[in-house]
Amino acid sequence: MEGFAADPSHPRYASLLMRHRLEVAAKRGMLADSAMIAHGRGEAFDYMLGEQTTPNARHAAQHALVCLEQAARPILSLNGNVTALACDEMLLLADHLNCPLEVNIFYRTPERMEALLSFIEERRQVLDLEVKVLGASPDAMIPGLKGPRAACTREGIFESDVMLVPLEDGDRCQALVNMGKTVIVIDLNPLSRSAQQATITVVDELSRSLNTMLAFAQEERRAVDAYDHQANLKASLAWIADAVNR
Ligand code: ATP
Repeated sequence: MEGFAADPSHPRYASLLMRHRLEVAAKRGMLADSAMIAHGRGEAFDYMLGEQTTPNARHAAQHALVCLEQAARPILSLNGNVTALACDEMLLLADHLNCPLEVNIFYRTPERMEALLSFIEERRQVLDLEVKVLGASPDAMIPGLKGPRAACTREGIFESDVMLVPLEDGDRCQALVNMGKTVIVIDLNPLSRSAQQATITVVDELSRSLNTMLAFAQEERRAVDAYDHQANLKASLAWIADAVNR
């Protein structure tokens, strides 16, 4: 990536690359002021997970992919951090699912929306994908939420049955679950409200979990065990506790 000079053999290479992507995105006006803080909270949990995809995170990601594939109206939602960290993976997943992406941000300003939409459009053209990108003109509201964060599009989030909303906020996650949707969250913190309230939670770093889904999408013979939400969260916490004890 332009301007990124870290050595790939550096033990924190992936982490440094993600930080660099956030720096670039911040300069382009894509991020809210709190973006770095939210990322730091995630990094702390990733450190405790050993910066690796645990077996239960892999299982949750595979199960999530199958739910998205079987959905009547799947949608992938991007906020600022998701766009900065994993825009390409989200575009590739939307292409695989033949579904739209929707930009949906908490602190909505016309400038930020424009910065995000133009970045996604650049990447879409580089990857040469036909993915539809929604969010520029919201025409519906998520019931139970107030202000700009309730805004969404009817064609995308509002009418969807299965939603991937990585790095979601707890209030909005609950409001989406209340709408009767299958809500898939990716969150390194198994204790966050979103992780607890979602239908499926992948406790893993965003780009790792999206790459797990994309790799699974290419597998020919697939079998996924049943998903137990509480057992998944407990297994993630147990993994962290084991790591701390070691
Ligand atoms: P909640 O409202 O769900 O309780 P929160 O207030 O703890 O969440 P936010 O600040 O809204 O959290 O969002 C940050 C969340 O995203 C944290 O739970 C953090 O662990 C997670 N996170 C940050 N960066 C990443 C990443 N790259 N991959 C996965 N999760 C991440």
